[in-house]
Amino acid sequence: MADPPDPAMVSPALGAGAGADVDVDVYLALGANLGDRRRQIDDATARLDAAGVAIAARSPIYETDAVSDEPQPPYLNAVVRATTALPPEALLALCLDIERALGRVRPPGRDKAPRTLDLDVLLYGARVIDTPALTVPHPAMLARAFVRVPLADVAAPGLRHPITGDPLDRSPPSPAVRRFRDSGGA
Ligand code: AMP
Repeated sequence: MADPPDPAMVSPALGAGAGADVDVDVYLALGANLGDRRRQIDDATARLDAAGVAIAARSPIYETDAVSDEPQPPYLNAVVRATTALPPEALLALCLDIERALGRVRPPGRDKAPRTLDLDVLLYGARVIDTPALTVPHPAMLARAFVRVPLADVAAPGLRHPITGDPLDRSPPSPAVRRFRDSGGA
């Protein structure tokens, strides 16, 4: 995972000097339900790592039913724990860049449209951020089994939600969140 970032993939604003002074532990959720889902999750993990988000651990990959009013293919989901010196806004911009690079399109008015890649910032250290572009902790994370289960796999022992104090290093198993094994093994 040490290859340099693809220059076409990283915003100019994320170049050298855009980092914060101190490495911060971050947790990111990955999801995909279009295309080669497994490859896109692997590719996104590698791109994050190459762009200054040092991956410390990635959860197993899970297959989950899409939460949507319209019928959709199932998702693959995972969570990574990483350290980065990127400020939160730059981390979000990187996530959006990687989503675009892996073919994400956003049909107007369809927030839950199927996607080749979804990258969400779950936690940025213990920071609470509420700006028009970024809400951290991610507002839906506690309610989503497809986040809670893989998050518990990689959470630092004793990790708690910065606002509610909910323990995040454990999660009840959910029948809707199933370990994924593709033909190459996971
Ligand atoms: P979606 O990809 O549909 O989950 O939504 C992405 C949009 O949500 C981005 O354009 C962000 O501005 C916004 N957003 C707000 N908070 C977060 C977060 N914690 N992680 C990712 N996107 C966020």
